Amino acid sequence: MIEDKNQQRTELSQLGEFGLIDHLTKHFEIKQETTIKGIGDDAAVLDFKDKQVVVTTDLLVEGVHFDLSYMPLKHLGYKAVVVNLSDVFAMNAQATQITVSIAMSNRFPLEAIEELYAGIETAAKTYGIDVIGGDTTSSTTGLLISVTALGTVSKDDVVYRNGAKPNDLLVVTGDIGGAYMGLQVLEREKEVFKVNPNSQPDLEPYSYIIERQLKPEARQDIVKLLKELDVKPTAMIDISDGLSSEIIHLCKQSKVGCDLYETKIPLDPQFISTCEEFDIDGTTVALSGGEDYELLFTISQADFPKIKANPNLTVIGFMTEEAAGMHLVTRAETKIPITAQGWNALSKEE
Ligand code: ADP
Ligand code: MG
Repeated sequence: MIEDKNQQRTELSQLGEFGLIDHLTKHFEIKQETTIKGIGDDAAVLDFKDKQVVVTTDLLVEGVHFDLSYMPLKHLGYKAVVVNLSDVFAMNAQATQITVSIAMSNRFPLEAIEELYAGIETAAKTYGIDVIGGDTTSSTTGLLISVTALGTVSKDDVVYRNGAKPNDLLVVTGDIGGAYMGLQVLEREKEVFKVNPNSQPDLEPYSYIIERQLKPEARQDIVKLLKELDVKPTAMIDISDGLSSEIIHLCKQSKVGCDLYETKIPLDPQFISTCEEFDIDGTTVALSGGEDYELLFTISQADFPKIKANPNLTVIGFMTEEAAGMHLVTRAETKIPITAQGWNALSKEE
């Protein structure tokens, strides 16, 4: 489906490890004042002065986390960075630096790795972060990419998963479920393509949800917005799995329960129409899908007036005493326990 635009094929062995690293990273610029020394020495040197530092890492494995038959390498590079930054923002922190480690088989020519790095570079530019190092090695099978992200946050601003209190409001950014349905569309087209390689799929009606899957963004803007609104969440997490699994994390770590209102979950119209087409329940996808990289947080009720008019933020429920448990309040106003498998909980009811 994704045609190979690179006619040229330069074997990685032609460059050697150091030649490759140099080729990929020589034009990377340093923007953050906390970066004292970036790529090129035995280790990077950073100076965070009096700030607290957050560190997070993710490993992406071909065939497990991504499928190169519909994931262009440029997007993969971008997404590998974004998923890490999302974790930094979920701490209410600013992202500052990343390291990037890759392992690839000789199946990949230089041109492919250049594409991957073009995506990494675009993400670094977009989010204003420095690439300060990494590691490069070979693999016998596919491609592995590991990104570590660093960020800074002052002691007073850091937000953990465990601070939610009963009666706090549960807030989500953006809309949920799109990335999962985007993946369903891509998987379907991959099957069609296998049968008829000449088919030209019209993906226009799915452009938003496919972008949610292939080129997600991390909510750097929300960290800034919360600061502007003078709202400090009591607890926060990013939505990499489904909404239900993230709610469970917040509730368990904060020792609270929760009522989540089905009718309040923000869904994009393209997501809704695609769910109808696939005959899948939208709420189920929102609860159990994943990869949306939105933020889920709780705020004190006193802060509600500050967030109320904002189109980026939707109140979807409130926290309760731990003993009350975690529930989805359905459209029919029945209460269903939230489980990690929202899918099962729903299918029993309907
Ligand atoms: P060492 O042999 O000490 O591990 P390397 O030769 O692997 O050092 O790395 C040299 C420099 O290049 C270091 O600054 C390292 O962090 C950086 N680097 C290596 N691989 C990558 C990569 N894939 N992306 C970005 N920087 C890298
Ligand atoms: Mg090394």
